[in-house]
Amino acid sequence: MTFNATLDAIKTYEAGKPIELVVREFGIAPEEVVKLASNENPLGTNPIVAQAIREHADKAHLYPDDSMFELKALLSQRFAVPEETIIIGAGSDQILEFISRAKLNAESTVLMTQVTFAMYEIYARQVGATIVRTPSYEHRVDEFLPLMAEHAPDVVYLCTPNNPTGDAIGHDEVLQIIEAADPETLVVIDGAYMEYAADKDERYRIEPTDILRYPNAVYLGTFSKAYGLGGMRVGYGIAQSAIIQALSKMRPPFNISTLSLAAAIAASKDSVFVDKTLALHREQLERYVAFAEEQGIGTIESYTNFITYVFDTPGAATRIADALLRQGIIVRNLSSYGLNAIRITVGTPEQNDRLFAALLESM
Ligand SMILES: *Cc1c(COP(=O)(O)O)cnc(C)c1O
Repeated sequence: MTFNATLDAIKTYEAGKPIELVVREFGIAPEEVVKLASNENPLGTNPIVAQAIREHADKAHLYPDDSMFELKALLSQRFAVPEETIIIGAGSDQILEFISRAKLNAESTVLMTQVTFAMYEIYARQVGATIVRTPSYEHRVDEFLPLMAEHAPDVVYLCTPNNPTGDAIGHDEVLQIIEAADPETLVVIDGAYMEYAADKDERYRIEPTDILRYPNAVYLGTFSKAYGLGGMRVGYGIAQSAIIQALSKMRPPFNISTLSLAAAIAASKDSVFVDKTLALHREQLERYVAFAEEQGIGTIESYTNFITYVFDTPGAATRIADALLRQGIIVRNLSSYGLNAIRITVGTPEQNDRLFAALLESM
């Protein structure tokens, strides 16, 4: 059986290793495994969300509300944007896919940094587009502008804060890139971790209202990270209505399940959980920075819910990630991105204690 030739250039996305794998391979009890690999919320499921999911358990036979009226109204309030500027996806991942299919084809070019969210490349390759990358892993205006002039990319991806490195690009720099873009270039601002960046430093806060001023930019957000709904798959895109109308043509019916909608609605009504998440994160991230300083480990300044530890000795990232895994601790090895580094999701105080102890054993 042959498939589209565009598939030959695609490496299947590798998600963070699941707890079950460590249980199977190393015989470690599931409750002993510490998963700090997928940037999930260390506080677990918000009890208010769990309650909302239970309350909808007997609605499984009905299709969900495809207008997503209530969730859109809540997002519209939260971001002070009109409802017709919002699209909801099964994770913001699905909106990235809509963008690819709506805007790109085999003649298209996309521009992104050297090391960024792997799905941008995968969705672009699915439709045969050409990938151009800036030289640095950081988002640098002085690298984006000449490449935008040279390649006239159809889509530019700005991931801020950036996954998997954790650095961010400032509000002013983002606007500079949008303003330099050709009107036919769609600039995607992926704010999956924006709550963390905005909490850390106001200069990195990008609001959907900043983006709505432009006819060629779209802001993406998700409930998967600060809101703790990774398992429910809900994300959103915000852009001028002409863009939203185009993306909506790519949306399958009922793309958000009844339980996921109930979860996102309940999560939107509760700010306490996010505040707690950010407070815990601030305090625990400091421990990671201090630990790295004490141990002489390099770091990339983190604006997210994870931190990247960078090593000098060649091969250290793989050796250390493997050693941690044998002790039941899952982190993300960034060697496949060309970085001698590991990405660690900042966990609960207890999880972080275990990580530090295991890291001392592993180095
Ligand atoms: C987690 C993440 C997303 C979206 O995740 P969903 O769960 O699909 O909403 C998007 N972009 C980046 C950079 C991410 O890390």
